[in-house]
Amino acid sequence: MSILVEEKNRKTSEVGMNKKENPLGEFQETLYEATELLSYPKEAYHFLKSPVRFLEVNIPVQMDDGGTKVFQGYRAQHNDACGPTKGGIRFHPDVTPEEVKALSGWMSLKCGINHLPYGGAKGGIICDPRKLSRNELQRLSRGYIRAISQFVGPTKDIPAPDMYTNAQIMGWMLDEYNHICESGAPGFITGKPLVLGGSKGRETATSKGVLYILQKVCEQQNLQIQGMRVIIQGFGNVGSYLAQYLYDLGAKIVGIADAKGAIYDYDGIDIPYLMENKDAFGVVSTFFRQTMTNEELLEQECDVLIPAAIGGVITTENADQLRCRCVIEAANGPTTKEAIERLDKRGILVVPDVLANSGGVIVSYFEWCQNNQGYYWTEELVEQRLKERITESYHNIMEIVKEYGVNMKVAAYILGTKRLAEASHSRGWIN
Ligand code: GLU
Repeated sequence: MSILVEEKNRKTSEVGMNKKENPLGEFQETLYEATELLSYPKEAYHFLKSPVRFLEVNIPVQMDDGGTKVFQGYRAQHNDACGPTKGGIRFHPDVTPEEVKALSGWMSLKCGINHLPYGGAKGGIICDPRKLSRNELQRLSRGYIRAISQFVGPTKDIPAPDMYTNAQIMGWMLDEYNHICESGAPGFITGKPLVLGGSKGRETATSKGVLYILQKVCEQQNLQIQGMRVIIQGFGNVGSYLAQYLYDLGAKIVGIADAKGAIYDYDGIDIPYLMENKDAFGVVSTFFRQTMTNEELLEQECDVLIPAAIGGVITTENADQLRCRCVIEAANGPTTKEAIERLDKRGILVVPDVLANSGGVIVSYFEWCQNNQGYYWTEELVEQRLKERITESYHNIMEIVKEYGVNMKVAAYILGTKRLAEASHSRGWIN
């Protein structure tokens, strides 16, 4: 299978956290394994290994200094057999076409696993939002929507937030789309501000989903959240809320990292203080007296390690040095396939991203349903339905773990791939 991993796709980031993997190769390798275990014809793998549609756009943006800068953006639509495609838009200097394609495939799996009537998509713009003014960010967001407007829509492809994008950006994008299409359709985008038709509980949905999954893992592994030592890499939308929930439940958050540095304190970190003082990009390391690198933090002792930032941070280079009992993948693609196999051998459970962080897209689906109905739910109802759905998916994956004798990652791929392949087959696309 090594032919799937194109060496040229390997790259190292210039920002604090290093990514060392090839996400598309990672997606394809485990997809291949799943299609083999399911005894599907080869065409199923060849159809699902890449997006059905991939768009590359150039976005000219007027900068505040009067000049024009051209940004590169992408939108990948992985598979639309189950319904419109769905997935976030990421603003990050390290965005690559391969990464966006892999992320769209992972979105298809997340939707399949959770029985959402969607296929996967993902968008990205190569930019550093930390270096853009609010007005430049708004012009870039609107420019991206103008560039992709023909390809998206509430019954075609529904964007959402992802890394370094938020409800405000979704609001600008919705407004731009509504102008172009002369429609007021709020269901074009999810994760938008409540006042524009957003859903209660969407902002915290991904972290709540991770928490519900961790609670199931605790039941199964005889662990207790009270007193549990947790390291969280990333203090953005997912990492910060999750740290707060776990702290409130009596866990000791012993390690936190952001893009600039990390801190480890065996007695536990004051999470409410960091929550109050973090900046818009989740940077908190400025408050740390003694910092270490992200790489060093991942190797510190804890019960549960939660990568909640970028992909490719747990690889064969550090898998043997991890000192935790369990890894919960809150980020997309943080652990490489080979690293998971090493962790398996060491008896360290890895709970896969396509399950663990799927709370975001589940509540995005609820948001879209509410938009279509024009009837809005209470936060309690959103959270109850999120918990029911993600817990059921957890049980379904555990059934496959038993049936096929595979790890949770492969089981999640089997479950997601089954739905994608069955829908594609029912449409007459593959045998
Ligand atoms: N960006 C999130 C993810 O990776 C959410 C996607 C969505 O809500 O459509 O799952």
